[in-house]
Amino acid sequence: MDSRDIRQSFIDYFRDRGHKPHPSAPLVPHGDPTLLFTNAGMVQFKNAFIGHEEPPAPRVVTAQKCLRVSGKHNDLESVGPSPRHHTFFEMLGNFSFGDYFKEGAIRFAWELVTEVWGLPVEHLYATVFHDDDDAYDLWKKLSGLPESRILRCGEKDNFWAMGDVGPCGPCSELHIDLQPDRPAVDWEEGSESGRYLELWNLVFMQYDRNEAGELHPLPNPSIDTGAGLERLAAVLQGVSSNYDTDLFLPILEAAGTVAKVPYGSSVEQDVSLRVIADHLRSVTFLLADGVIPGNEGRSYVLRRILRRAVRHGMRLGLEEPFLHRLVPVLGEVMGDAYPELAATRDASVATIRTEEEKFLSTLAAGSRQVQEEIETARANGLEVLPGERAFWLYETHGLPVETIEEIAEEERMGFDREGFDEALRRQQERSRQSAGEGKKRLAALTRTVLEEGVEETRFEGYDHLALGGARVLRLAKEEGGRPLAAATLAAGESGVAVLDRTVFYAESGGQVADDGVITWPGGRARVTDVQKEAGVFLHLVRVEEGTLRQGETVDLQVAAGERLPTQRNHTATHLLHAALREELGEGVRQAGSLVAPDRLRFDFTFHRPVEAEELRRIEDRVNDWVLRAVPTHIQEMGYQEAVAAGAMALFGEKYGDVVRTVKVPGFSMELCGGCHVSNTGEIGLFVITAERGIASGVRRIEALTGHGAIARARQRDTGLAAVEEALGTTADRAVEEIESLKADLKERDKELSALRMKIVAGAAAADGEEGGPTEVDGIKVLVREVPPAPAGELRNMADTLRSKLGSGVVVIGTREDGKVSLVAAVTEDLTGRVKAGGLVRELAGIVGGGGGGRPDFAQAGGKDPDKLPEALEAVPDAVRKQLG
Ligand code: ATP
Ligand code: MG
Repeated sequence: MDSRDIRQSFIDYFRDRGHKPHPSAPLVPHGDPTLLFTNAGMVQFKNAFIGHEEPPAPRVVTAQKCLRVSGKHNDLESVGPSPRHHTFFEMLGNFSFGDYFKEGAIRFAWELVTEVWGLPVEHLYATVFHDDDDAYDLWKKLSGLPESRILRCGEKDNFWAMGDVGPCGPCSELHIDLQPDRPAVDWEEGSESGRYLELWNLVFMQYDRNEAGELHPLPNPSIDTGAGLERLAAVLQGVSSNYDTDLFLPILEAAGTVAKVPYGSSVEQDVSLRVIADHLRSVTFLLADGVIPGNEGRSYVLRRILRRAVRHGMRLGLEEPFLHRLVPVLGEVMGDAYPELAATRDASVATIRTEEEKFLSTLAAGSRQVQEEIETARANGLEVLPGERAFWLYETHGLPVETIEEIAEEERMGFDREGFDEALRRQQERSRQSAGEGKKRLAALTRTVLEEGVEETRFEGYDHLALGGARVLRLAKEEGGRPLAAATLAAGESGVAVLDRTVFYAESGGQVADDGVITWPGGRARVTDVQKEAGVFLHLVRVEEGTLRQGETVDLQVAAGERLPTQRNHTATHLLHAALREELGEGVRQAGSLVAPDRLRFDFTFHRPVEAEELRRIEDRVNDWVLRAVPTHIQEMGYQEAVAAGAMALFGEKYGDVVRTVKVPGFSMELCGGCHVSNTGEIGLFVITAERGIASGVRRIEALTGHGAIARARQRDTGLAAVEEALGTTADRAVEEIESLKADLKERDKELSALRMKIVAGAAAADGEEGGPTEVDGIKVLVREVPPAPAGELRNMADTLRSKLGSGVVVIGTREDGKVSLVAAVTEDLTGRVKAGGLVRELAGIVGGGGGGRPDFAQAGGKDPDKLPEALEAVPDAVRKQLG
C-alpha cells in the first residue's frame, strides 16, 4: 500500500461509517493567539469541542497537516535521529462531536487496523489512562487483547492536551511491536527505544482547561483521534523507519544526489539527509500556507527550520543553495493530496533560494565577526566567549546561536550558553512587553466572556454606521490583574462589552476595527478596538461618563469620518490585487494586507522588485476601474459556488460553507467579509506611494485613495511650485537647472580647496620666521590653526606641510560649529621617536575628545572649540614628553 492508498482507505473507512470528510486546515491556526501552528487534527475543531461553534457534522474524518516545532508539542530535536518523529507530518483522524464515545472509537480503530489493514493482532498493544476502567474493559471486550497487552499508563502519555489551555482529556493508544520475534521487554524500555511504536491515539475529549489550569467538563463528551500517516506507512510497507517509505525515499534520494552522498553511506550523514528531507516538507508547506521567513513568531520558526536544513547541508559539504532544488520532488510525492504545493511552487522555490543565499552569505560574513570576537576575548585573557557578545552577534548579524557555538568549539574557545540565554530572555521580555501585552489581555478577557456562553453578535454595520436600541449582553474587565466577568463598567474603567447587535466592524481580513462611541441615557463610552471570536464581537471600551451596565439598552455610532475612507481603501485593495495579477501574472499571491482609514498596504509574493514602469501601469489599471464607476456586487453564496465562479480565496484563511463575495464585475471577485464602497467611483483617485521588499520573495505596495491621494498630490504640487519660484524656472526645467547648479558648486568647492591649500602652504614660512616651525630638542615642529575644511582636505594639508618640512612633526587644527579636528603627521625618519597616534591622543584630551592612528599619521576630534589654541600651544610639550 503506498501512502496515497493508506490516506484514502482511512477516509473511505470512516466515510462508510457516517463520517463527513473535511479538508485539512492550514498550518497556521485561524484566530488562535495561544497556538503558533496546527499540531493535531483537532485544532480546527477546538471551538466545536468547547461548544462555541457548530461542528461541520456530528462525525467527521480528516487528514490534517501538522507541525510540531514549538510550544507543548515540539519534536524538532528528535528529528534526524528518530525514525518516527518529524516536524511536519500528516495526522489521520476521526472525530465525534457528542455522537459516539469510547466504545465507538475503540471499535472503529481496532476494526480498521486488524481487519481492513490486516495488522497482526498478536503484535499489538493498547494503553489506557491509569484509572480509566471503562477504556480498559472496552479493549478487553472489543479486541480480545490479553490483559498483558493492555497497559495502564500515567498522565505523561495518556492524558492529551493541545496546549496549556483548551480542550483535553484522557486517551488510549494503539502500539505495535516492531520486533515481535525478539523476547518481549519492559513497556518503558520498549517504547523509549522505539520498539513499541505508537500508531494511533484515541482522545476522549472531556475537559476544557482554563488559564488557571482548572478542568471544566465539556458540554458533550467527544472523540478526537490521531494516527500518523508516516508511521502507518512504515508498518504497512514493512520497513522499520518512516524515512524508508514512499513518502520520504524520493526526497532522500534527490538530496543524496545533490550532495553526492547517497542515503545509507554513513550513520551521521544519514541523519543530515533525514533532517533535510524532513525540513524541506515543513518549510515548503509553511510557505504554501502563506507564512514568510522573518524575524518574529511564525516567520522566525520558518526561517530557523530552513537554516537548520542549510547547516545540515553544509555538514554534507554543500556550500551552495540546494534546498530549493528539492521542492519539485516534494511536489511529486505529495502534490496530489495537497494542490497548494503546485499553486505555490515557483514562489516557494524563489523564496527558499533567496533565503539560502542570504543565510550562506550571513554565515560567511558572520563567521569572520565571530573570529574577531573570539580574538578580542582571548586578548582580554578570557577562555570563554561571553554570552553578551554572542548575543550581539546573533542579534546584529543574524547568526544562529548554534553556529556561533560551533565556531567557538572549532577555535577551542568555551561558550557561555547561560549568558546567551539570559541576554535572549531579557530581549524577549522587552519585546513582549512592548507588543503582545495588549492583545494578550484582550484574549484573556475574551475567554472570560466566551466561557460563560454568549450568543453570536448580529453585525449590521455593512449598511449602517449608527444603530439604536442594542442590548449589552456581557461585560468583563481586569481586576487585580485577572480577567473577570463584570456587571458594570464605571466612568474611567476599561473593559470588554458584548452586545446583541453591532455596527462596529471587528478587525479581520486586514481591515482595521471601527472606532466610535456607545451612548445610553446619562452615559458614554468610547470604542477603541473590536475583535471577533467565534462569531462574538468583543468591543474594547473605555467609559467616559456614567456607568455601563449589563442589560442596558445603548445606541451605537461608528466614526463615519474613518469608516468611509476605510471602505475606499478596501475596495481599492481588491482592485490592486487584480491589477497586480493582470500585470505580473497569476503567480502573485496575497501575503497580507492592511486596510486603514488613512492608507492601504498590500503584501504579495513576487520574486523581484516591481519596476517603475510596471507600477505606473498597475496604477493606471486601478484608476481605469475607478473612473468607470462600476457598481460593486456583494453577495452571499455557497463556498463551492463562489470558487467555481472564479472568486479568489486566500491561502491560510478558513471559510465556512456560506461565504460573502465582493465583486467588481469584469475585474475582481474575492471572498471577503470587509466593508466596501458601493461604486468604484467613490474611490476618487488611487496612487501608489511605495514599493519595496519586506522578506525574501515578498513585496509590499503602499497606496492612498480619495482625500488622502488628493492631499498628497496637492502637497507635492505646492512643494514643486516653491521649487519653481526659488529657481526662477518652470517645473520641466527644474531638474536641469539643479544639475547645473550642483555642477557649478562642485567646481567652486574644488577651487576653494585649492586656494586653502595654497594659503596654508604659503604661510608655512621658513625657519625662524613668524609662523614657521619651531625646534623641540632638535626636531622641527610646525603647529598651525587652519580654516575649516573637509576631513580629506585636512589630511592633504598635513601631508603637504610634512613634505615641505623634510624632517619634523606637523600638527594642524581647525574648529567649526562646536567641533574640533586635529591632524598630526610625522616624517618617516622620526616615527621611531615621536608617534603621531600618541601625540593626538594627548591633545584630544584637552579639546574634550579622543582619537588615534598610525605612528606617522593620526587624527582626533573634540567638542570644545575654545580649547583649540591651548591644545596647539601644548604641542611642543607633548612632543617633548614623547621624546623623553
Ligand atoms: P510520541 O509519544 O511518539 O511522540 P505523541 O504522543 O506525541 O507521540 P500524539 O500527540 O498522540 O503523539 O499524536 C497522535 C499520533 O500522531 C501519534 O500516535 C503518531 O502516530 C503521530 N505523531 C505524533 N507526533 C509525531 C511526529 N513528530 N512525527 C510523526 N508522527 C507523529
Ligand atoms: Mg510526541
